[in-house]
Amino acid sequence: MSVTALRGRIVSFKDDPFAGASADCLMHEPDGLVIIRDGRIEAVGPYDALCGKLPDAAIVVSYPDAIISAGFIDAHVHYPQLQMIGAYGAQLLEWLDRYVFPAELAFADAAHAGRVAKTFLRELLRAGTTTAAVYCTVHPHSVDAFFAESERFNTRMIAGKVLMDRHAPPALLDTAERGYDESLALIRRWHGRGRQLYAVTPRFAPSCSPAQLDAAAGLLRQADGLFLQTHLAENLAEVEWVRTLFPGSSSYLDVYEKAGLVGERSIFGHAIHLREQDFCTCHRTGAALAHCPTSNRFLGSGAFRLFDALDPRRPVRVALGTDVGAGTSLSQLATLNEAYKTAQSLGHPLDAIQAFWLATLGGARALRLDDRIGRVAPGYEADLCVLDLKATPLLAFRTGFCDSVEELLFTLMTLGDDRMVRATWVAGVPVYDRDRGDDARFQPPASQAAASRT
Ligand SMILES: [Zn+2]
Repeated sequence: MSVTALRGRIVSFKDDPFAGASADCLMHEPDGLVIIRDGRIEAVGPYDALCGKLPDAAIVVSYPDAIISAGFIDAHVHYPQLQMIGAYGAQLLEWLDRYVFPAELAFADAAHAGRVAKTFLRELLRAGTTTAAVYCTVHPHSVDAFFAESERFNTRMIAGKVLMDRHAPPALLDTAERGYDESLALIRRWHGRGRQLYAVTPRFAPSCSPAQLDAAAGLLRQADGLFLQTHLAENLAEVEWVRTLFPGSSSYLDVYEKAGLVGERSIFGHAIHLREQDFCTCHRTGAALAHCPTSNRFLGSGAFRLFDALDPRRPVRVALGTDVGAGTSLSQLATLNEAYKTAQSLGHPLDAIQAFWLATLGGARALRLDDRIGRVAPGYEADLCVLDLKATPLLAFRTGFCDSVEELLFTLMTLGDDRMVRATWVAGVPVYDRDRGDDARFQPPASQAAASRT
């Protein structure tokens, strides 16, 4: 039984700050201790009160001038698009044709998929992200490559093979039947294996025939706890296209609902151009929306109405997504920066407690994983990120003028990016440490266990 502990300033959440007073939802321990046993958090509290309970053999890692938080949760991201992040000059539909599909065609080569999966997972960890809902490509081996890498680091990830049987290059198309069979084989191989979870992943309504959407709904009935991830109402031209492709549906979301794809483990990316009836449908069904602000601004898609979605009269579950490669950063700090600006442009300041909640426990709640991740609390899986308050000269200078933890957090999300992530812990193991040497920065749990035996 190995016991490890982290000492430092701890920030976590008790409840939804959009539903009540923000300050009441925050847990803040200025000099705290997180005790971890066998990958789970055993105790959290003031250092002075807890240090006497540590066994003699416990290893205590101190992080001065830092904030210890639950690992970040990214509810919408495409790993095959890492190689074309920051592609110039197009809006959604042209951008798919010009940049995305060529990048995804390269995944016919399994070795390429393996290389990108390896880089992508390390970039997530470097950003402090410990759970993500990830789109792979239409190729089943793209899913194997990603889950294999995630399994190596023991991260809790959600991913799935893209389903696409029309309106894309022929080499990227499956059929309703083949997509079903390949997805079912992947579900049997990966869903619930260790910490891996499967998401049935129709790319979006225009790329899926009605038969393929029906097949996706059939897949959801094949195992408990499966997710459904897709795109929804990202761009006005896309919304118009869906209207012509599915004339019998009353809205874009209605296409998915008629197919049986809207439920409590459904994650819809973007959801910018929604009507009130769509928000009501999400509230009624428990479906989640992934807010992807850097992507929405980069592609000129529009502004997600966060505070409308969260209206307490019919609140919708909302998580935060980076949507790389249309998103411009895998960092949830950078994403919160843009989320704040988007909310401001619509007349609502997003406070730091609300913001960090979205990136941690709120994301976990939207993904129905809030019984195990998203909090620094006893019983939770010990997925943590450590944010360095002196990561850059400007941040060190600015945080010297902060009077409260709220101000520290707000400064982090305004100035922050991957440089602020000092370390990332996964299931109680420091798999990423910025300050270890180049060769040792990323260490999967197995290599650390081997090192401790020698
Ligand atoms: Zn996307």
